[in-house]
Amino acid sequence: KRNIAVMTSGGDAPGMNANVRAIIRAAIYKGCKAFAVYEGYSGLVKGGPKYIREMSWHDVRGWLAEGGTNIGTARCMEFKERWGRLAACKNMIDAGIDALIVCGGDGSLTGADLFRSEWPSLISELKETKKITAEQYDKYKHLNICGTVGSIDNDMSSTDATIGAYSSLARICQAIDYIDATANSHQRAFVIEVMGRHCGWLALMAGMATSADYIFIPELPSSKKDWQDHMCKIVSKHRERGKRKTIVIVAEGAIGADLTPITCKDVLNVLVDRLHLDTRITTLGHVQRGGTAVAYDRMLATLQGVAAVDAILEGSPEIPSPMISIVENKIVRKPLVEAVKLTKQVAEAISKKDFQKAISLRDTEFNE
Ligand code: ATP
Repeated sequence: KRNIAVMTSGGDAPGMNANVRAIIRAAIYKGCKAFAVYEGYSGLVKGGPKYIREMSWHDVRGWLAEGGTNIGTARCMEFKERWGRLAACKNMIDAGIDALIVCGGDGSLTGADLFRSEWPSLISELKETKKITAEQYDKYKHLNICGTVGSIDNDMSSTDATIGAYSSLARICQAIDYIDATANSHQRAFVIEVMGRHCGWLALMAGMATSADYIFIPELPSSKKDWQDHMCKIVSKHRERGKRKTIVIVAEGAIGADLTPITCKDVLNVLVDRLHLDTRITTLGHVQRGGTAVAYDRMLATLQGVAAVDAILEGSPEIPSPMISIVENKIVRKPLVEAVKLTKQVAEAISKKDFQKAISLRDTEFNE
């Protein structure tokens, strides 16, 4: 029976608590000991009972719906250094942990895979420098790693949905519904900034779900003249047909054809100068991360939490570091390294304006 630790890392996302709850309870149900690492990788690097705690069934009671992450998350520069990972390795052995499940974005999962692949050399160094005993070396020779994807952006390749994305989308739609009422009353235009640096999923889906007039996403840049003319044409047409309000959604990573950002202020200026609309900007900001998880995220996080514990217990020699995904409504294991690599390649292609490549990389993911 294993001693399984769970950690949340990177940006928080609604549903992370549900994932931690499922992992802890599935581990206990299957006869394992369950631990939580507090404050992401920095808790692992610092170690000790303040940061690495054994968890009981009751410790996670009521966590299913709660937003954020109750075990904390952090960006940890030390873990990017070998000495930080060496300290983390020692702290895990001291706590008696032999398997780690990380819920986070592509950065966190890259760190997890690196930790696993480096583990033999880290543990050998600890043995050689007599920081651990020969018995500890034999007992902890192998580290099992598994990733679950927590991210509001839905920006990870090889999975259709990430934990938190649908909650964030629901929050955005709710906020736009509120804005709609006031926009309609005063016949105003609102330019709304939503999250998404490399991935326009939130903006695109929110645009569809709120019938926004126009959206800007990183994946579809156009020249200044093109987007200005096109947006004005569409918005004017809607106004001529009697629409009393205008909603334009801008993903924070939206860019023009020259790769310079398209900001809410740029859009506002055009709506005011060319269409003479009374226009306001609303940046939704961290509201998009807050609140309880929607039913879909609670369900996804729970199913994936159980699947992560199964992956640890069954082991998968063909996939040394599995990532738990959902593909066409099925919970599946994918190679974490490949998923992270694809995600980075897509982001890189978008930032280099190579959209054909970005699209074909995304197709690779779906045709796998
Ligand atoms: P989000 O999508 O919300 O940004 P993320 O998991 O991608 O989440 P990052 O800040 O990139 O967030 O990564 C979180 C942490 O994971 C980092 O602070 C660091 O501790 C660890 N990490 C990231 N990349 C690496 C890496 N290449 N090697 C080792 N550790 C890493």
